[in-house]
Amino acid sequence: MSADLHDAFVALSGLDGADVVRNERMGRRTSYRIGGPAALHVTANTYEALVATIETLHREGVEWALLGKGTNVLVSDAGFSGCVVALGRDFQHTTFGPDGRVTAGAAVILSRLVAQTLKQGLTGLEFCVGIPGTVGGAISMNAGTRREWISRRVVDVVCYHPLEGLRRYARPDVNWQYRSTSLPPSEIVLEATLQLAPGEREAIARDMEERIARRRERQPLGKPSCGSVFRNPPGASVGAMLEACGLKGFSVGGAQVSDIHANFIVNNGTASADDVVAVMRAMHDKVRDTYDVDLQPEVKFLGFAS
Ligand SMILES: Cc1cc2nc3c(=O)[nH]c(=O)nc-3n(C[C@H](O)[C@H](O)[C@H](O)COP(=O)(O)OP(=O)(O)OC[C@H]3O[C@@H](n4cnc5c(N)ncnc54)[C@H](O)[C@@H]3O)c2cc1C
Repeated sequence: MSADLHDAFVALSGLDGADVVRNERMGRRTSYRIGGPAALHVTANTYEALVATIETLHREGVEWALLGKGTNVLVSDAGFSGCVVALGRDFQHTTFGPDGRVTAGAAVILSRLVAQTLKQGLTGLEFCVGIPGTVGGAISMNAGTRREWISRRVVDVVCYHPLEGLRRYARPDVNWQYRSTSLPPSEIVLEATLQLAPGEREAIARDMEERIARRRERQPLGKPSCGSVFRNPPGASVGAMLEACGLKGFSVGGAQVSDIHANFIVNNGTASADDVVAVMRAMHDKVRDTYDVDLQPEVKFLGFAS
């Protein structure tokens, strides 16, 4: 461990509201179940702990990355030589207003929020059913389906700007795009307020059940993955393109293009990050050679040389 990391570890270890771990295996923290260790891992349970953590990491010159539930991230086999920061206890709140508005902390699990909206008889988040991860991850990725994105429900988002403080963005302040936003990449989403509407509970439940059934039918939910690997090119389905290229079942080591959905790479149990990257490269090159389309990854990378 470098002197900078060691100094950061010592400073962070004494911090109230922060859980600090050295050499945290990221395979435990990602839905792929892949990834070497992060040199440091901090769960910030309070806003004060988060601010102090980020300030310490900046002071010591330690690179850091924010992680939600790690359902859209591939961590390298070598791991991450900096600090992974996660949000804990105080970012797990949910408050329902009288007007169909709900404010959720960034660490709230999206599927729990969806279940709560059903309980409250609120419509608007049915399309999020079955999307794993946190509210913060969903906002950061502008998660959704081909037709519906979470940004459509956003009233505002509160972020922490490192070394400066809180910033609130109303929905029109942000350029929301397909699986990305114009929120500054260094900012940490702390909470989001969403506008939902009163609905009929049975109809909401039926809609959710149908969506879940479709996911079970069309996605390999029994094996570790990160969901869709590549973004859909405008007006096209990358899954259909990859399937037409005959890539279903293609594998390198323990990583395999799913037999069920050609834009999913599953971990058959022994996949390394290098195996996943090799499969991605083969998918990318085959589509480039067949369709002259340069596929862009949807999955985020951590710990790879850029
Ligand atoms: C089986 C499966 C199905 C999926 N289906 C879908 C789907 O239908 N639609 C869809 O959009 N996605 C889907 N995904 C991908 C993934 O679930 C979403 O992108 C999800 O929103 C990521 O949330 P997370 O908390 O896991 O984020 P992570 O994977 O931890 O992080 C993803 C990115 O968001 C950033 N981030 C996370 N939290 C914050 C925060 N608080 N502040 C700032 N940045 C943050 C991270 O730095 C990283 O760049 C699927 C994944 C799986 C495994």
